[in-house]
Amino acid sequence: MKVVQVRCPSCNSPIYSKQRDRLFYCDKCNVIHVRDGGVDKIDFEIGEFKSEPREERVYVPFWRLYCSFVIRSKRVEGGHVFRLVSWMRGEDGSGTLFIYIPAADLDTAMFKRLAVEFTLSSPKYNTRLNFGSTPRMPTVISRDEAKELADFVVVTMEAEKPGVLQRLDYSLIVNSTKMIYLPFGIGPGGMVPAF
Ligand SMILES: [Zn+2]
Repeated sequence: MKVVQVRCPSCNSPIYSKQRDRLFYCDKCNVIHVRDGGVDKIDFEIGEFKSEPREERVYVPFWRLYCSFVIRSKRVEGGHVFRLVSWMRGEDGSGTLFIYIPAADLDTAMFKRLAVEFTLSSPKYNTRLNFGSTPRMPTVISRDEAKELADFVVVTMEAEKPGVLQRLDYSLIVNSTKMIYLPFGIGPGGMVPAF
């Protein structure tokens, strides 16, 4: 396995990474940075585990996109209300929401499930300052890729009824991004949120 060594842009300590993680974490000064052309420090947050779980623990990275959207036209049929529409405040057809993009290497079903679940209902968790001894899954999806996936999540959320998408015309702007590490337990039934 290839070992990557970089230096923390804040304290200059060496960071060794064996994984294909796009993000480099300095445990000396608690800074995460990414290297894509330049060196960018990443705004991030770490969730606290709810309780002392017996199962194996892991942190799963998510890009949280703070988005504005405008709905240009919609046609509601059969009592179906678009989920986007239900978030709108006011009558002008615009609103904001957090879209969660899983950034780890997950299978498609898990990716969709977590993205939709967390976007529909933002996770509530306490935060902590560092990872402690808990491992974190590598981030394989870049910030730019996450922005491109925002529309895919909206489409997935709205796609529960056939034909719905053709009738919803909207635009989405990503205002800001944050990396959120959420606590999960790995049990016999797979990975489950532990916050
Ligand atoms: Zn550092």
